[in-house]
Amino acid sequence: MLQSPDSVRPAVLGLEPYAPGLSIDEIRERYGLDRVIKLASNENPLGVSPLVREAIERHAGLAFRYAQSGTPRLARAVAARHGVDPARVVLGNGSDEVIDLLIRCRAEPGAHNVVTARPCFSLYTLQARLCGVELRECPLRGDFSYDWAGLRALADENTALVFVTTPDNPSGFCPPAAELEAFARSLPPGALLVLDEAYMDFADRPEDYSLLPRLEEFPNVAVLRTFSKCFGLAGLRLGYGIMPADLAACLCRARLPFSVNILAEAAGLAALADDDFIAASRKTVRLGREQLARGLRGLGCRVWPSHSNFLMFGPPESRRLEPEALFTALLEQGVIIRRLKSYGLPEMFRVSVGLAEENDFFMDCLKLILER
Ligand SMILES: *Cc1c(COP(=O)(O)O)cnc(C)c1O
Repeated sequence: MLQSPDSVRPAVLGLEPYAPGLSIDEIRERYGLDRVIKLASNENPLGVSPLVREAIERHAGLAFRYAQSGTPRLARAVAARHGVDPARVVLGNGSDEVIDLLIRCRAEPGAHNVVTARPCFSLYTLQARLCGVELRECPLRGDFSYDWAGLRALADENTALVFVTTPDNPSGFCPPAAELEAFARSLPPGALLVLDEAYMDFADRPEDYSLLPRLEEFPNVAVLRTFSKCFGLAGLRLGYGIMPADLAACLCRARLPFSVNILAEAAGLAALADDDFIAASRKTVRLGREQLARGLRGLGCRVWPSHSNFLMFGPPESRRLEPEALFTALLEQGVIIRRLKSYGLPEMFRVSVGLAEENDFFMDCLKLILER
């Protein structure tokens, strides 16, 4: 028998679930298509690195074992990559898990609040709601930059966390490090600034935008990174946070044992060592981003500058095509992009950078639809 709703916490009943991109199989079946390309979830267009594939195959026979608790080897490798103390690294089942742990460990339900921007990555709001923590959202400015004074004004002595995504999703906007620095220093003493850098690997000059190289100077800042995007491991679920060591120890105590599985650990270690693949991913994304931006602007679309592996765009104003009609027409051609309705941007779309031929195919389809 199903749970009767009154035996479930109200926060759960009111929850809007996370809205993922549509899957290739789903669309192939629905429209009877042979070729479907997915440019909806910011996955790595190059797929799996050869070194990672080899590591997964080599470790397949260990799938019956539990991983070493806390995956210390991977924590050390991540720490070495960023030049930080391994005690500051918290690995998770995707950086999603680290976001969830930060909220659950730092924010007292009914007492504390979490500050973020609107629109923002939905997981901050979902997990805050689920935990019964007050959520305060400051609208982004018209150009999708952060309103620092507005965010600061929302933070008070009960603010546990402030989430800032940089580069931002879905806009691709990336604030300079100097702005982050001033904002971090302006926050009340209890508030931890969480910089979600899921896409920082794609920024043109990360050293101008990330506080990670100087994190020691900022005791109230944590940085999140993921293996899902530039490293191409979205399906294996692996991400991490770098934060003050005492907080990291609390998160490690609170998390479920073995949330990072043995294949994800092996894959993560191999991915960190595959410099060629990382360089190729960056190059593919930078070139593809240019290609898409040029093509979309050529079709009369409004395109926002992006430091990420996706572009946010609005269709030409002159074309009075309903956003849903445009989205469906693309699906019928076998192209999945992302509508930004769930981000409160019903007129807007986000397209992930694909391989050159995928970008071309998307643009050809879009051109056909707009010229109909
Ligand atoms: C993709 C993404 C993540 C990473 O999620 P994982 O759980 O590591 O796959 C985190 N934050 C933002 C803003 C993202 O877009």
